[in-house]
Amino acid sequence: MTRYATELDVALDAVRAAARVCRAVQQRLVTAETLEKRDKSPVTVADFASQAIVCQRLASVLPDDRVVGEEDSAELRADDQAGLRAAVAREVAAEIEGDVDQEAVLGWIDRGGAQADTDRYWTLDPIDGTKGFLRGEQYAVALGLIEHGQVVLGVLGCPNLEGQEGPGLLFSAVRGQGAREHALAGEGEGNPIRVAAVAVPADARFCESVESAHSDQSESARIAARLGITQQPFRIDSQCKYGAVARGDASIYLRMPTRKDYREKIWDHAAGKIVVEEAGGRVTDVFGNDLDFARGRTLENNRGIVATSGAIHDEVIAAVREVRGE
Ligand code: AMP
Ligand code: MG
Repeated sequence: MTRYATELDVALDAVRAAARVCRAVQQRLVTAETLEKRDKSPVTVADFASQAIVCQRLASVLPDDRVVGEEDSAELRADDQAGLRAAVAREVAAEIEGDVDQEAVLGWIDRGGAQADTDRYWTLDPIDGTKGFLRGEQYAVALGLIEHGQVVLGVLGCPNLEGQEGPGLLFSAVRGQGAREHALAGEGEGNPIRVAAVAVPADARFCESVESAHSDQSESARIAARLGITQQPFRIDSQCKYGAVARGDASIYLRMPTRKDYREKIWDHAAGKIVVEEAGGRVTDVFGNDLDFARGRTLENNRGIVATSGAIHDEVIAAVREVRGE
């Protein structure tokens, strides 16, 4: 049997189920009114439901595997959160056969409370790009498997990314086995994807965060200018940026630190990194260093992110270093 076949099957199934729930919640609960009020409640429901579903699916197939998820159930367990608990359980019930009681849902969420200090663990961002989710735009469900500090498998669910069969894409990658794109609604093996064949950085389209608090957009503009890039940046929330590079919609993803003390979270990059690498690209931090997933919940030894279609990576890193004055 192909290596990681069981893990890939369950990860695809889990992310598909979570993405369906997130999509339903976004379509139903993100309204003109929540947008106007900057009401965060829709994402809170979907975030917890997504983590519960992914952890339940993983536990049913790989009960001994640990999960390092972004969320825990503390907020949900508070006495005054009965309404939220009921709302989350209702969403989870749509994807689980049999009875779903609130205690079971809380238990699944807490399965995501493992420490990132074992030889093997999954890391989950139940909704990456919460700001995009609340704007009715892009977000992702991101699940990666780490072994000995290396990402070996990743699945990225992007419910609003446009594919050939309409909106809703999944990306998957297993170390050494390539990257694939799947319709969210479909089944089966999906289709192999490759990064764009861009030979010179000037021809590249670069993507970055919509949120200027998450990535220094003026610095990336200076880097783009130095590389001779004239196209406007493609701004898109979440790890959909990694998906965009992996499928050739963009060739560079710049995530320039906005604060000296910020450390990137493992669940924000594990799945995306392996999808880009297995599609032929490269992913490092802004110094050109490999990402180190053996330092707990954050990429303690790294700063920022640079992902590219590969051949242009060294040139992009050189420009990053020049602009940052290194
Ligand atoms: P994006 O969708 O690219 O804007 O990234 C969303 C992610 O940014 C969230 O999942 C947060 O974990 C992360 N984040 C929060 N604050 C910062 C920050 N100051 N710098 C970089 N990333 C951040
Ligand atoms: Mg995130």
